[in-house]
Amino acid sequence: MPELAYLNGKIMPIEEAMVPIEDRGYQFGDAVYEYVASYNGRLFCAEEHLDRLERSMQGLAFPPVAREDMREALNALFDRAQIERAGIYIQISRGVASRNHPFPEASQVQIVMTIRSLPEAHPLADEGAATITMQDFRWARCDIKTVQLLPNVLAKQKALDEGVYDTIFVTEAGVVREATSSNVFIIQDKKAVTHPLTPNILGGITRMVIIDICKTREIPLEERFFSVEELYQADEVFLSGTVTEVLPIIAVDGKKIGDGKPGRLTRTLYGAVRQKAQA
Ligand code: PLP
Repeated sequence: MPELAYLNGKIMPIEEAMVPIEDRGYQFGDAVYEYVASYNGRLFCAEEHLDRLERSMQGLAFPPVAREDMREALNALFDRAQIERAGIYIQISRGVASRNHPFPEASQVQIVMTIRSLPEAHPLADEGAATITMQDFRWARCDIKTVQLLPNVLAKQKALDEGVYDTIFVTEAGVVREATSSNVFIIQDKKAVTHPLTPNILGGITRMVIIDICKTREIPLEERFFSVEELYQADEVFLSGTVTEVLPIIAVDGKKIGDGKPGRLTRTLYGAVRQKAQA
């Protein structure tokens, strides 16, 4: 099961893939990315990830990349690696040019991907995880999936330094946004609540899958702003994401959520997402 890289049309061992030092992704964070997972040898929601990749590129006014080319590249790498449970990272930068802020006139986007194995399930899926909160200090276009992840990196490290799993970003006014690489859901009186789609959060694919599941199973769901107080008082809290899947949160800022154990509806949604992914 080789872990491989794709670099502008060629597939090679990851350690052999090199990008020039004047790649704008490297110098300006001028790049977008996606992360797609596979279950049982099949990519989950690949088209939805490609949709978002296109939206991210449009958001940064990148020259268009043919959808078919991206799909072919993704499938070629996935087919070659033959990893049943894989995570594929895709990054597209505006290209390589001598360092200067304006968009270069003649540069070609650089497409890079890596494929690696993923654990069968998230290691904390059964026991759940603890989080802290922190004021959101990211930019105002978190709906664009760019590689400028320094606030997310610092917030994640702060969580680890404090002995917990992750950090949930909250505004100065106390509105809960999302975690460092996941969306946040709370359960209140058997109703699921999550932040609406605005430029302040990433429109998660897993979030979308969960919303669809709630609709089919007639689980009440509200997309609305909710406060950090509602987060502390919720019956259940969980994070959602491609790697995170549906991860029960059992404590926030040292306060127990519900009875401090993964909640029932969280478990149901976890099972439903896994079922869909493995279908
Ligand atoms: N929010 C942020 C900030 C993320 O980085 C991610 C995933 O990387 C998500 C939410 C969840 O998105 P998805 O479910 O598409 O993986």
